[in-house]
Amino acid sequence: MTEQTPSRTLPAGFGRAFVLTLREALEGAADDLGDLDRRAGDGDFGTNVRTAMKHLDATLETDEPSSYREYLTALYMAWLGVGGTSGPLFGMFFRDLAKAGEESGADVPTAAQFADALAAGQATVQRYGEATVGDKTMIDSLDPAVAALRAALEADPETSAVEALFAAEDAAVEAATATAETTARRGRASYVGDASQGVIDPGAAAMALVISSARAGADGSGVAHCGWIA
Ligand code: ADP
Ligand code: MG
Repeated sequence: MTEQTPSRTLPAGFGRAFVLTLREALEGAADDLGDLDRRAGDGDFGTNVRTAMKHLDATLETDEPSSYREYLTALYMAWLGVGGTSGPLFGMFFRDLAKAGEESGADVPTAAQFADALAAGQATVQRYGEATVGDKTMIDSLDPAVAALRAALEADPETSAVEALFAAEDAAVEAATATAETTARRGRASYVGDASQGVIDPGAAAMALVISSARAGADGSGVAHCGWIA
């Protein structure tokens, strides 16, 4: 295992910053994500995102989470309460992400533990959804993000968690954008066949916002990179 330097640990309060940044990003992008699903799918994705964020708000209010695990638990429970294909898949994905670093007992995961949990979430989504890279799904942006994060952490011990997350964000955004060139083979978007050509996959875009929000939660800016959607 790679030795952890202090710069490789995610900052205290990372869970809160990550989840609240993602909440803002998904709320702000919900209309655009819904439009993408309308053009290449059945149009329910924007509503599904909004419903998940409504559940999240309610849990944040009642449960008052404080740790990384509690914030991520609120997020996964919120998605599990949503329909569509994306609800259960994002729910199970965030449930795996909530476990990041749990074996260490630390308050926040290290960047390497976060990367491992992202990879576990990817494996779960692929086990249930049976999508592979190129099927025009959330996997298309998640897979290169995990690879870029791990590569950045492994390449140079001087690379900080934030720098590695920037590399993952770049990879996710680029891959999500590139889904416009592909035809959907999973979910309801697959029913429209070639009509999905030219349209970014909304789930891949939302997954890129997840990675972007993790970077923004780690670097303290609290602002995900969203302008490229639409
Ligand atoms: P539905 O396809 O049932 O209408 P949503 O609109 O809630 O589902 O979510 C659509 C998104 O879900 C897609 O943009 C895609 O990224 C993702 N998705 C659909 N099917 C799968 C799958 N089998 N595996 C992974 N992701 C999927
Ligand atoms: Mg849909």
